[in-house]
Amino acid sequence: MKVIRFYGKNNIRLEDMSIPDLDKNEVLIKVKKVAITNIIANEYFYGPYITKQSLPIIPGHSFGGIIVKVGEEVDKNLIGKWVSVLPLISCGKCYYCKAGYANLCKNLRYYGLIKQNGGLAEYVKVNTNNIFILDKNNIDKITFIEPLLIAMNIFDEITSRYKYKFPDKCNLNILILGAGAVGFLTALVWNIFRKEDNIFINDLFLSRIEKLKDVMNLNSDYNINFTEKEYIRKDFFDIVIDTAGFEPLALEPAIQEGFKYLSRGGYLISVGLYYNRIEIDQGEMLLSNKSILTTTFYKKQTIRDLPKVLNRLKFDFSKLVSKIDMKNVLSKGFYKAHIDKEEFIRLEVIC
Ligand SMILES: [Zn+2]
Repeated sequence: MKVIRFYGKNNIRLEDMSIPDLDKNEVLIKVKKVAITNIIANEYFYGPYITKQSLPIIPGHSFGGIIVKVGEEVDKNLIGKWVSVLPLISCGKCYYCKAGYANLCKNLRYYGLIKQNGGLAEYVKVNTNNIFILDKNNIDKITFIEPLLIAMNIFDEITSRYKYKFPDKCNLNILILGAGAVGFLTALVWNIFRKEDNIFINDLFLSRIEKLKDVMNLNSDYNINFTEKEYIRKDFFDIVIDTAGFEPLALEPAIQEGFKYLSRGGYLISVGLYYNRIEIDQGEMLLSNKSILTTTFYKKQTIRDLPKVLNRLKFDFSKLVSKIDMKNVLSKGFYKAHIDKEEFIRLEVIC
């Protein structure tokens, strides 16, 4: 089978590999869609950072397809089902796993990013613990399941900590910087669980905001404010979430900019990854008690609420996607993911 392997900065190769044999608890997936995410493009152009200990690796952490073969102990009825891959693999034995933080596992693996080959391949073998079966209505969301879990984890971690600090504050003002998959899904998840809060979302590229507006205005279930940078209020937001991370076209890193919008005692949530060092004004942080929190990946218990949240996401996700063929990934895919960002929320390779 054909695979794309990442060897390091500016070094990806199209290679032949044999189709993997299955262990008794695994399924073989014929990959249908895989996202070339910002993180994959950044690893290629500026990294390796997150993949550094795992090279060479087949990238692709948001992907899925159809089950075509199952291991000895797996239900044969799964053959033919559409699935999205839940990429996090934890050991279940270390302190963090036992405490419910699989995302901090000391032996963490993650399909397509950390010590485990991912989706830029014709076939991928996956443990049954790492599949999420999609019904017909949700096949358009196949590459959005992973960022949705990340968004749900952001919501979960932040609300519990904020409530601990300011238990009686209601109608929070939330600002999300970056309207990629994680950014806009965080806005949606927030809106599903806490209708009383005011959610604002901004992106460096106005066309991405326009695209989201178009798709979501058709659906009055959501109350999300799309805002241009010059209208964002300073010293105002209780929570600012930086999902943008490293962006070479930005005049200022979103994490630095985010501090200006934060009100006293507020939390800046850093989710996007940076490939360079960031300067922070410690005096400003201290005197107004602004804090930085990070959240990473998702926890096992996050998966439990996934069907409930998916049921609430009623619009057509395919309108947020640009597509590219597998054969064009090497010549165009990574550049497109990097340079044509204003054209899409998600870039999907169709296999
Ligand atoms: Zn562990």
